[in-house]
Amino acid sequence: MKPLDDSSGFFMVFLPMLQIKNLSFGYAKTEVLNQLNFNVNTGENLAIIGESGSGKSTLLKLIYGEYDLEEGEILWKDTKILGPKFNLIIGYDFMKYVSQEFDLMPYTTVEENIGKFLSRFYPEEKKERTKALISVVELEAFAQTKVKHLSGGQKQRVAIARALAKEPEILLLDEPFSHIDNFKKQSLRRSVFNYLKGKNITCLVASHDKNDVLGFADQMIVLDNKKVVAKDTPKNLFNNPKSPLIASFFGEYSLIKNDIFYAHQLQITDHSDFKATVVSSYFNGQNWMIEANYNNQTIFIEHDKKIEKGLEIPFKIVS
Ligand code: ADP
Ligand code: MG
Repeated sequence: MKPLDDSSGFFMVFLPMLQIKNLSFGYAKTEVLNQLNFNVNTGENLAIIGESGSGKSTLLKLIYGEYDLEEGEILWKDTKILGPKFNLIIGYDFMKYVSQEFDLMPYTTVEENIGKFLSRFYPEEKKERTKALISVVELEAFAQTKVKHLSGGQKQRVAIARALAKEPEILLLDEPFSHIDNFKKQSLRRSVFNYLKGKNITCLVASHDKNDVLGFADQMIVLDNKKVVAKDTPKNLFNNPKSPLIASFFGEYSLIKNDIFYAHQLQITDHSDFKATVVSSYFNGQNWMIEANYNNQTIFIEHDKKIEKGLEIPFKIVS
């Protein structure tokens, strides 16, 4: 048997395709991002999370080449991403970016907006492709509607479809479902993210909504205080949130003896050394979220019934 050598193509290595190296950036005098380092593999879905103002949009804009870096570099495969100082036209063919303020052509239809960048020399293909993209963002009923007559959420869906029209290698999405109503959100997330996976398109998704991340992201990074404070799978970060900030992204939590517990990890019981006083009960669909006071701290316990304010509840940790 012939031994395999490197030229056989058998030794597939996962080379990081997007590389962020020592990236620092600020607007005027205020530094926003300091010494960021991370990689993203081909076809991976990376979620970028962090509080409002933590620099998620800034990071996406830097990766797109909208600003010049102060320090560090960004590479997509062998291409170094350059900002406006070194690049006359912002952006690259292999990358698309859907900003929080999507800019569409208001006086033309959904179909025309999406098809705009497809070649008119192949009318059949153009028609097919536009139709497929309209169905990815579930806008079949609005194909012939002028964009100016659409709602914010519908416009957002047109912007996503348009970014996909030319099949980028990498897609940057800034809070892509923020304007879309809850009736549609989950099915649209599945449709868009499954489409990207199927085409092996790398995507970076800035979000502050756990539902954009859980079930879809392969990796997530957490931005805080100008730094990447965590990078791991959503499952690992959910199961082992290293800080209250990370826990708060996933749900209500309590700090007990310096440990973080989600509401479902605390349980009301008959007798316990832990006793809290009920402040309020909130119905959350499946259960009730009991807000209570424990040692002068607010804690949250999930429970199957509402509990009157002021009652003392013994509770235990069940995680
Ligand atoms: P996020 O998307 O996480 O909410 P941004 O990247 O939009 O955060 O903003 C990060 C910080 O940079 C904020 O403090 C914001 O006020 C500031 N900032 C954003 N855009 C600009 C700009 N064009 N000029 C000056 N400061 C800006
Ligand atoms: Mg933003």
